[in-house]
Amino acid sequence: MQPLNKPADDDLDFSSLPPGPFATVAEMHMSRTPSPAREGDAERRAQGLYAAAVRAYETAPAGTCTFVCISDTHCKRTCHHLASTTFGSRLGRAECPTRTVSADGELTLPPGDVLLHAGDFCTHGTLAELESFAAWWHSQTAFCQRLLVPGNHDCALDAQYERETTEEKEELASSERLHGCGVHHHALSLLHRPYIGSFLLFDSGVTTTVAGFTVWGSPWQPAFWGAFNLPRGPQLAAKWAAIPGDTHVVVTHTPPEGQGDYVPRSRARPHVGCEALARELLHRVQPAVSVFGHVHEAAGVSVARCGSGRTTVFVNAASCDTHYDAVNPPIVFQLRRSAEGEAVVRVVGTDE
Ligand SMILES: [Zn+2]
Repeated sequence: MQPLNKPADDDLDFSSLPPGPFATVAEMHMSRTPSPAREGDAERRAQGLYAAAVRAYETAPAGTCTFVCISDTHCKRTCHHLASTTFGSRLGRAECPTRTVSADGELTLPPGDVLLHAGDFCTHGTLAELESFAAWWHSQTAFCQRLLVPGNHDCALDAQYERETTEEKEELASSERLHGCGVHHHALSLLHRPYIGSFLLFDSGVTTTVAGFTVWGSPWQPAFWGAFNLPRGPQLAAKWAAIPGDTHVVVTHTPPEGQGDYVPRSRARPHVGCEALARELLHRVQPAVSVFGHVHEAAGVSVARCGSGRTTVFVNAASCDTHYDAVNPPIVFQLRRSAEGEAVVRVVGTDE
């Protein structure tokens, strides 16, 4: 089978992975050209994936940690099928009548121990968007831990972000009046609430309460637009050098170069991911899983063999497509330990 986002490559090796699930996840993400027939097909597959995720969670052996990954939700709620609504009123259910949502409009994520969000929960990055997202995020109490990193659209979380418009500057001033602190601190306190299991990872890590796997998260990306930009080169490399070598799951907003980062229309540099991150992941950290988003057009799963022969699974969990429609189901993976103590990954699919 082919990886999702580029032709076969010597670095990619699916041989050590279970056959069905990967193919299914890959196909699902490849066949999402919007047409009624395709949408119906994709919705059936997504519902199959949801059922598989429930089965996988309920039958997981002891010592298994189940992660549900989403990213780039951009003010939409994402669920197991193609339904999406927004937190605010800009795009209500009435505007996507072909989509299915439950009677009360609340959408259900597949079950898991850890909910991961790889950034871009906002669109414009205002406090109002962030507050709305935080209300939804903190309602996901079925997950004992919820971990997230900010993306380039989540500007309110970036202390360095230069507010440009009058509206943005007014928000900054009113936040200081209301909360006695800047947007940045208020935004952080909205999401980083360890006492209820919500961790905003900011060049920092956490250990999962289920099965004790280590997760590290960082928001930085090669300079593009919005917040958390750094130039390619030493500054980004220094951020990635801080990832501890014993990390099982690395969560970033940017993809590493060469995995889930292919943008065909970007002629000069179609693989837009960070080369320094790729180097660090493949040659030093060699995590079991690398989770990211940012590149909506390359959502899906790929695998690469690291320098030592270990494999890393790369998950581009972008929920929105390039039209900012939340059409991609969450990607679910499970971690457990082998008899030798190595982390073993299983990506949940529908062919089980
Ligand atoms: Zn995005």
